[in-house]
Amino acid sequence: MKTPFVTKEQLDAITAQYPTPFHIYDEAGIRENARRLREAFSWNPGYREYFAVKATPTPAILKILKEEGCGCDCSSLTELLMSEKCGITGENIMFSSNDTPAEEFQLADKLGAIINLDDLTLVDYLEQSIGHIPQKICCRYNPGGVFTLSETREGFQVMDNPGDAKYGMTRAQIAEAFTRLHAMGAKEFGIHAFLASNTLSNAYYPALARILFQLAVDLQNETGVHITFINLSGGIGIPYQPDQPANDIAAIGDGVRQAYEEILVPAGMGDVALYTELGRFMLGPYGHLVTRAIHEKHIYKEYIGVDACACNLMRPAMYGSYHHITVMGKEDQPCNHKYDVVGGLCENNDKFAVDRMLPKIDMGDLLVIHDTGAHGFSMGYNYNGKLRSAELLLRQDGSVELIRRAETVEDYFRTLVW
Ligand SMILES: *Cc1c(COP(=O)(O)O)cnc(C)c1O
Repeated sequence: MKTPFVTKEQLDAITAQYPTPFHIYDEAGIRENARRLREAFSWNPGYREYFAVKATPTPAILKILKEEGCGCDCSSLTELLMSEKCGITGENIMFSSNDTPAEEFQLADKLGAIINLDDLTLVDYLEQSIGHIPQKICCRYNPGGVFTLSETREGFQVMDNPGDAKYGMTRAQIAEAFTRLHAMGAKEFGIHAFLASNTLSNAYYPALARILFQLAVDLQNETGVHITFINLSGGIGIPYQPDQPANDIAAIGDGVRQAYEEILVPAGMGDVALYTELGRFMLGPYGHLVTRAIHEKHIYKEYIGVDACACNLMRPAMYGSYHHITVMGKEDQPCNHKYDVVGGLCENNDKFAVDRMLPKIDMGDLLVIHDTGAHGFSMGYNYNGKLRSAELLLRQDGSVELIRRAETVEDYFRTLVW
């Protein structure tokens, strides 16, 4: 069962003030989850979570996470600027970009961010861009091939395809990058890898950690550099389907600790700090897209037209992703109607749900689309001239704050030359 973090009564009051559609976030849920994560890695003294800003680039959210001890993982100029404006600078920023323009390296360096190089050719490019090599530097590793985990507890397979991904360096390249960066003056080295996305398994991070810890031991022996941190990146998933079990972050932290004690500690590397760059896990479940049913259509199938569209949440259109839907006030009614829940774009993939069994929907009903807190609003766009929605924050005391106003026609027209 998935239960919204707002009640129908709350939403009736909120929608009287803020028109649908909008995204709303749950401060209490975000904070509790961030604390569980921190606790799970508290055995590692240097541990830090760098929230992947691209998942939810909204200052109010970044500030809550800052209060919970998180930094920012940025991948572009505007994400760097937003972090700076939120007071998150220096080594509280990890700059994990790819295909990076020089001006972005320059800003990252000016802010004192830890720069994570995606490719061997960027060693020289970075030096040319900023005029030196930073003392502390990270390189992204791509082991190639196919990454699989079959022995996961619930039988959920984890499989992803690093060999087909554009990110990171080969094994030989990362050794060469370390050797060259060392010769150019770098003193503290880190390794980063992102091998699988949205994993629903407590075994992913420990398996990734084993690969990176062994690599760190080997690279330190081969190149003589001092490896001071390992960045496990993102990839811990959330259960989008109501019958999927959530990850157990305490078990994940413990699995990583075992790998650390088996591989790094005996190699004399028991002082290595661990970093994470989670986005989805930090915010996904703590956001809802709230929309209203405005049309019903009966042709070869039954359609419910809502006032949100794929511009507000792209994942179903782009990946066919499942997002659970609750029809507010009808939680106890039987799901005996089969609907396609659609938006108004002139694209037939603009469907939040296809052949979904739901209670009978009446015009004016409020629908909560679940798990939109990460990669939801942030992937929005303006196709068909649709305007970006507002974002609201449900505070811990039950009050609601506007944290991003809805776009207006004037905003949309602002860049046009008439
Ligand atoms: C997208 C991304 C993340 C966050 O991924 P999640 O799946 O949201 O946890 C972290 N690091 C990098 C480099 C990314 O591109």
